[in-house]
Amino acid sequence: MRVFNFSAGPAVLPEAVLRQAAAEMLDWHGSGMSVMEMSHRGKEFIGIAAKAEADLRTLLSIPANYKVLFLQGGAIAENALVPMNLLAGRTAADYINTGEWSKKSIKEAKKYCTVNVAASAEDRNFTYIPPRETWKLDAAAAYVHVCTNETIGGVEYQWTPDTGAVPLVADMSSHILSRTVDVAKYGVIYGGAQKNAGPAGLTLVIVRDDLLDRALPIIPSAFHWKEQAANDSMVNTPPTYAIYVAGLVFEWLLREGGIAAIESRNVAKAKLVYDCLDRSEFYLTAVRKEDRSRMNVPFKLRDASLDEAFLKGAKERGMVQLKGHRAVGGMRASIYNAMPIEGVQTLVSYLEDFEREHG
Ligand SMILES: *Cc1c(COP(=O)(O)O)cnc(C)c1O
Repeated sequence: MRVFNFSAGPAVLPEAVLRQAAAEMLDWHGSGMSVMEMSHRGKEFIGIAAKAEADLRTLLSIPANYKVLFLQGGAIAENALVPMNLLAGRTAADYINTGEWSKKSIKEAKKYCTVNVAASAEDRNFTYIPPRETWKLDAAAAYVHVCTNETIGGVEYQWTPDTGAVPLVADMSSHILSRTVDVAKYGVIYGGAQKNAGPAGLTLVIVRDDLLDRALPIIPSAFHWKEQAANDSMVNTPPTYAIYVAGLVFEWLLREGGIAAIESRNVAKAKLVYDCLDRSEFYLTAVRKEDRSRMNVPFKLRDASLDEAFLKGAKERGMVQLKGHRAVGGMRASIYNAMPIEGVQTLVSYLEDFEREHG
C-alpha cells in the first residue's frame, strides 16, 4: 500500500510516472534494455533527453535565448557554481536572506566573492519576504541571488523582484514547476530535481545565454555552464535515469493540463491546510500570510509534548514524513505537485480529529 508521503525531498512522485518507469524498466520501447543501461550518446537516450528538454521548455515557456542544462551536484553545488560562473570581472554579489537555504547560498558564495546581504528577514526569524523597496542593492554586483521558496521556513515569493540591469539568480529547488514563472525576468534559475521535478541526482539550470561568458577561469568543466550548453549537458556522463524520470514527470504535467492547471490545484491544496490551521488555536503557524509557501507548510502544536503522539497517529493513518526540519522543529507538510488532494484531505481530517481528542 502506498502512503501519503509529506517529505520535503526526495519527495512523492506521481504514481502514473512510477508505474510507467516500472513497466519500461527491462525494455524501453523495444530497445531490449533499460534506460539505465543505455549509452548517453546513443540515439535512444539522446531522444529521451531532447524530449525532456523540449517538454520543460513548453511547461515553463522558456524563451529561446535561455539554455536548459541537466547537471549534477544539486542546488548546494550550484550555490558555489553560481559565483564561479558569473563573477568574471566582478568581485561582489547581492544576496537576499530569507532563511536556511539563503544562508547556505551566502555561506558558499563568501568563498568566492564579497557578499552584500541586501535584505534579510532574520530580524523576525525568517517569517516573511522583505519587501523590494527595503533592498539595498549594489549596482556593481555581479548578480542578485534569491531563494524563491524556503523549503524549511515555508516562505515563498508571490512576486518577481525587479533588479534592473543586474541579473536575478534564483534557487527554485522546492517550487519549480508548481506555479507559472516569467523566466525572462531571471538571469539564472536553478534547482535540485528531487522536490518537484523528479528523482535526486539531477540539477536543473536555466541560464540566459548572454551570461555564459562570465565564468572564472578556475571553473571545472563539468560545471561550466557555457561548456555544458555547447555540449548538450554531456561534457560528462549526465544522470541518465534521473533525466528519464524527470522527463516522465514533465509528460505527466502536460497531460494534467500544464503549469497553470497544476498551480490552481496547488492553490486549492494549500488553502485547505492553511484554513484548517487558521481555524485552530491548537496549531500555530509563524509565517506572514502573504508570504506563505504553497509547497511547504510548517506548523507547530501549541503543546510540543504531543508531537510524538501526533506523528504516531499520522503514521497509523498512512501519512509519513510530517516531522519538521531539525533546524526549526515542529511539523512540516510538504504538498508538492504529486501530492494528491486526497492526501491533503486526509491530513486536514486528521488535524481536526487530533485537536478534538487532545485540545
Ligand atoms: C533541498 C534544497 C536545496 C538542497 O539541494 P541539494 O540537492 O541537496 O543540493 C537547496 N535549496 C533549496 C531551496 C532546497 O529546497
